[in-house]
Amino acid sequence: MSCTFSPSICHINLDALERNFKRLGEPSSLMPVIKSDAYGHGLMQVAATLDRAGAVSFAVGTVSEGVALRKAGLAQQIVLLIGCMDKEEWLLAMQHKLTPVIGSFDDLALAAQVCAENEPGILNAAIKCDTGMSRLGFNLDDKSQLLEHLRKTPKIKPALLVSHLACADMPEEDGFTKRQIENYEKFYAAVCSLYPETSHSLGNSAATLGHHATSNDISRPGLALYGGNPFYGTRLEKYGHNQEWVMSLSSPIIHIRELKAGQSISYGRIFTAQRAMRIGIVACGYANGVNRQLSNRMKVLVGGRLASQLGRICMGMFMVDLSQFPEIKTGERVWILGGKPDPGQTAPDAQQIAQMLGTIPYEVLCHMGSLNQRIYGNDTLAY
Ligand SMILES: *Cc1c(COP(=O)(O)O)cnc(C)c1O
Repeated sequence: MSCTFSPSICHINLDALERNFKRLGEPSSLMPVIKSDAYGHGLMQVAATLDRAGAVSFAVGTVSEGVALRKAGLAQQIVLLIGCMDKEEWLLAMQHKLTPVIGSFDDLALAAQVCAENEPGILNAAIKCDTGMSRLGFNLDDKSQLLEHLRKTPKIKPALLVSHLACADMPEEDGFTKRQIENYEKFYAAVCSLYPETSHSLGNSAATLGHHATSNDISRPGLALYGGNPFYGTRLEKYGHNQEWVMSLSSPIIHIRELKAGQSISYGRIFTAQRAMRIGIVACGYANGVNRQLSNRMKVLVGGRLASQLGRICMGMFMVDLSQFPEIKTGERVWILGGKPDPGQTAPDAQQIAQMLGTIPYEVLCHMGSLNQRIYGNDTLAY
């Protein structure tokens, strides 16, 4: 959750979120993924914005996320991607009319037991099939046995069939994705033979942007909602170009000092000045989601221009080179993500940071969003 002790501010641009959502298609064909505190953007605020934008369903991870949305008055279909872990959770899911994933015969047995023992006794379920991810879900070979079980437990309604693509963002893995889609269609045909009302949901952001999934699919975009491009660096990159980053991260310069030639800075002395330099100390560090591996490598936006970070990133502070920024004063904000670049400059973003760290922007957003105080607005810099 948002950390109110942090001096850094995570700015969430809710208008950009809404625009991203609209670019992804009609609300009726989308199930926005807002798990893990909406990828660090804040579950409740993101859900409220998408509700106003017409969302008809949501995907979260856990029962507690689903219950929180119900308590806030949201009436949409809410799919629990992680499902339920014990009897209490199945009961909560049933009582709050949530739609948990059922992906095994054990799930099915426990859910059926809870339905039999409690009122109202009806549970809408998202039947999960494994088509190649090998994480959660029934195997293809299980489908007739599954249908038999479902027939015997009429209180469990298969509202939805879901599966998840492992490589939809990798054009070179198109063959694998195609096989997943074929497996999915076989499973869906079997479920439909008994439950023709069941809807289906396969695609993630990449499938949505790349028009991969089958027709009438209710796709589940996550990353693309928050501005990420799952096709970054591939030949399909252009499909994600219209998405805008929703999160920015800024922190104030708390001190400015001179460094003499030969003087080192911060822990471990990994940077030594070759000449006199002007250095800004920024109140942000790895405790605020700025990974220590970015030390001496990252660039941040200061007064519209990029400045180099120098020396080891500390827990709550890092240093930037202000030698080319004589006008910058203590108290001005440095942008770790986003900000307003001058013409010809580009703002740092979660993709670039992920690239430097050998990870994906999902992780950067989750960390920076959850480790800082979040402020909501309708522009990047208007607050
Ligand atoms: C996280 C998740 C998604 C969203 O994936 P993106 O790549 O962020 O679009 C969709 N489906 C499932 C099951 C997920 O866990």
